[in-house]
Amino acid sequence: MDWFKKPNQGPKPQKKRETPHGLWLKCEQCDAILNRLELERNLGVCSNPKCRYHFKIGHKEYIQLLLDPDSFEECDATLVSGDPLQFREKQRYPEYLKQYQERTGLLEAAVSGTGRVGNRPVCLALLDGAFLAGSMGSVVGEKVARSIQRSIKTHWPLIIVSTSGGARMQEGILSLMQMAKTSLWLTRLAEARVPYISILTNPTMAGVMASFASLGDITIAEPGAMMGFAGPRVIQQALGTELPSGFQTSEFFLEHGFVDQVIPRYELRAALMKILGFFPERE
Ligand SMILES: [Zn+2]
Repeated sequence: MDWFKKPNQGPKPQKKRETPHGLWLKCEQCDAILNRLELERNLGVCSNPKCRYHFKIGHKEYIQLLLDPDSFEECDATLVSGDPLQFREKQRYPEYLKQYQERTGLLEAAVSGTGRVGNRPVCLALLDGAFLAGSMGSVVGEKVARSIQRSIKTHWPLIIVSTSGGARMQEGILSLMQMAKTSLWLTRLAEARVPYISILTNPTMAGVMASFASLGDITIAEPGAMMGFAGPRVIQQALGTELPSGFQTSEFFLEHGFVDQVIPRYELRAALMKILGFFPERE
């Protein structure tokens, strides 16, 4: 699998810094020139020991990273968004979605199902930033909610890997409703005493951060991930003050008690196995 093969550009690719093409690419943080194949072997982590920047990777890579081989079984794979608001910006919302579907091979920004970690069954939902920046519309919310329901039913621990720009504006209030819906189901999960491990990756923002991503019993973040509700520019403008350095990074959140652990990607699976080991298996 080529993890960094220019996969996931949406319809409006953002302007990027100049990078060498082909086999080589430039680290987004330290500017080191990296070999794509080596980067892939390093699970998308910059090989410069002083940098260790975590490149964005997709849901397939996280499945491969976290779960026992071939243990993932997808659920609710065919859910797709409707067009309840008849939203239209430059083009109609369904056309916009279709473009992302064709480019990414995904139907939506979340994938969910079941799998095993160290032979321990788990329910899993993963957001994929390649699809509309991992934004949460009705389908993402529904897939997350159904994952929680599966955890309640099976008593299998829930793991959600988040990356998101927030709620999806094209679905208006319906996307905001997903915040309440997923939070409600997580309350039921807590009542059923089933553990939920939330993994935050770069970036996890806004409506996703303000709902299920920040409600984990255990919250893990990848190093250097941006997280929060509003972005730093908005906060700075609203408050009219300078923000502290490193504001809204995983490390800042760890220091302030919001995140339990910052764990490099290559140690995530081992950490998950250890955490799951704390909880007895239930029938
Ligand atoms: Zn680097």
